[in-house]
Amino acid sequence: MHVEVVTDPGSDPGSDAGSDAGAPGDRNLPGGGPRRPRDRVFALATPEAAVVVTTALAHRTPVEGCGHGTGWYLRRLGAHLLARLTDRPERPIRDCLSDAIAETAALHGGRCDLALHGTPTASIVAVRLAEGRVDQLVLGPGTILTRRDVGVVALSDPARHHHAAGARPSIAADAAHDTTPCRGVHTIALINGGGAESLHPDHRPTTIRILEETGAHGLLAHIRAGELRTASAHHPVGIVHLRPV
Ligand SMILES: [Zn+2]
Repeated sequence: MHVEVVTDPGSDPGSDAGSDAGAPGDRNLPGGGPRRPRDRVFALATPEAAVVVTTALAHRTPVEGCGHGTGWYLRRLGAHLLARLTDRPERPIRDCLSDAIAETAALHGGRCDLALHGTPTASIVAVRLAEGRVDQLVLGPGTILTRRDVGVVALSDPARHHHAAGARPSIAADAAHDTTPCRGVHTIALINGGGAESLHPDHRPTTIRILEETGAHGLLAHIRAGELRTASAHHPVGIVHLRPV
């Protein structure tokens, strides 16, 4: 198994770029009004599973009701989901996400009000390889490209602009998901919403070719070059490149 993980925070001048991972929260900055938290991305992978978690693009309001902040939420949710995927290979992938959301919500503790609209939320891209299967899940923006013997297929969430993981486990039932045999799978690419946004859906075979030839760093450079050409913002990008052997 070849596993490659790349994340890049990008630059997003409209957000709170001063508060970084590890800060106590993404709340209001001193001397300023409420500001939208900085978008973040978090990715992790083992030979059995991979997860990319990104600030939900729909989450355009300041965090309220939670003193932990978005960075904390993304790291916890991502780590819980990876653990669920690998510890329970027989459990359906959407149920693993539901479990991870519930576990993360419980960690907030009594001082956070998760019912508030501004509670941290995330989009999720996840893959598991277990028992000869490939399980895939996308909630919110982001995509999974898979090159099989028969060509490149994509999995995306049709309601991506309306879906985000927050504190409600039942949202997992709305995730796009797929299970296929692992045989004949050559390359899997998990790409978060910030990265997928600048990759044209008609160019999927090209995206996979760039990934296979130049690695995840090469694909990141390709994405950044495309953003420069179109003068669009450098969103946080997370890519996981898997090659089952
Ligand atoms: Zn909290």
